Amino acid sequence: QKGFNVEEVRKDFPILHTKVYDRNLIYLDNGATAQKPQVVIDAIDTFYAKENANIHRGVHFLSQHSTGLYEEARNTIQRYINAENSYQVLFTKGTTDSINLVAFSFGELVKEGDEIIISAMEHHSNIVPWQMLCERKGAVLKVIPMSTKGELDLDAYQNMLNEKTKLVSVTHISNALGTVNPVKEMIAQAHAVGAKFLVDGAQSMQHTTVDVQDLDCDFFAFSGHKVFGPTGVGVLYGKEDVLNAMPPYQGGGDMIKTVTFEKTTYNELPHKFEAGTPNIVGGIALGTAFEYLSTFDFEAVEAYEKELLDYATAELKKIPEIEFYGEAENKVSVISFLVKGQHPYDVGSLLDKLGIAVRTGHHCAQPVMDFYSIPGTIRASFAFYNTKEEVDILITGLKRVITMLS
Ligand code: PMP
Repeated sequence: QKGFNVEEVRKDFPILHTKVYDRNLIYLDNGATAQKPQVVIDAIDTFYAKENANIHRGVHFLSQHSTGLYEEARNTIQRYINAENSYQVLFTKGTTDSINLVAFSFGELVKEGDEIIISAMEHHSNIVPWQMLCERKGAVLKVIPMSTKGELDLDAYQNMLNEKTKLVSVTHISNALGTVNPVKEMIAQAHAVGAKFLVDGAQSMQHTTVDVQDLDCDFFAFSGHKVFGPTGVGVLYGKEDVLNAMPPYQGGGDMIKTVTFEKTTYNELPHKFEAGTPNIVGGIALGTAFEYLSTFDFEAVEAYEKELLDYATAELKKIPEIEFYGEAENKVSVISFLVKGQHPYDVGSLLDKLGIAVRTGHHCAQPVMDFYSIPGTIRASFAFYNTKEEVDILITGLKRVITMLS
């Protein structure tokens, strides 16, 4: 479809027409999780009502049918992110699981004194697995600093890279600040010293399209639930040679070729990294979410979200009590702010009573909050189904809350 019609899109999402506390739900917590279109809900329903069977192992009709659906979902995702082969799309539990897979498996190739680089604006799930790896292996963790605007210091990054750098793992889009990092350039710089690069894409595909071959990343991790799919499922894309060089992450069914008590041989990609019965319905419904997303003209989506971001930012700027955190030149529709003198939790709780769902706290990015010396922020994160009218309701709500608290 050409262009973008928000009223049409809103019809696809049943939850947007529900009420909380007898008020219309204003859902501005899309950074935490996105809502689900009816087609995704139907895919889950239909699977359990008519198609449920375990995959990759049965000779019977339903097992072959569900295997087909699951593998077709993998193909859909491959096409959407432009992976070279569908077997480079590994199903995981989500971004956290994808990053841990790399930290543990690629981590086996990391030696004492090797260096891992992350950035100052990472989510805890792109910090802690690397700290654990560095502790296990005696490797060194380095952190790319950021400016008060919430932009990475790319000169500092360039200076950090050297022949000891094994892996760089940086978020494409910051969940706490909305910053879009120039990952394509950063990947080329990492490759110039022979390092691999993981892109944390948890926040990416809700707002923009991704082409893993164009980025030339070695790994790309994301969660289903943030791209209008179900929870409990996600993806790790990896380059074929890199994945093949890595030992398996978990042992169990499906990931083996042959098992004897003396020796076990491992299955090919993607099965080598998919031990045990996976989240079958999750994978299938994630495929549906991507089929749904591929009906959109994403240039129009991005233009619409930019309009929404600019409008919300301008309206918020008119309220003198508001302080902004993260004002990068290149950012998506995520606004982190505080009301001067008020704890974010108090503001968030009062907004909630007006039916407005925002996130308050550290957003699993405590180092970002420490950087600004604040306990947390209030975060309004918009998806393509949000409207200017909802921004107006947020602004009116905030003004009411400020009056109540002062
Ligand atoms: N990285 C970023 C940038 C995120 O926003 C999130 C989710 N808030 C994660 C990683 C972790 O994703 P999940 O909890 O779905 O595994």
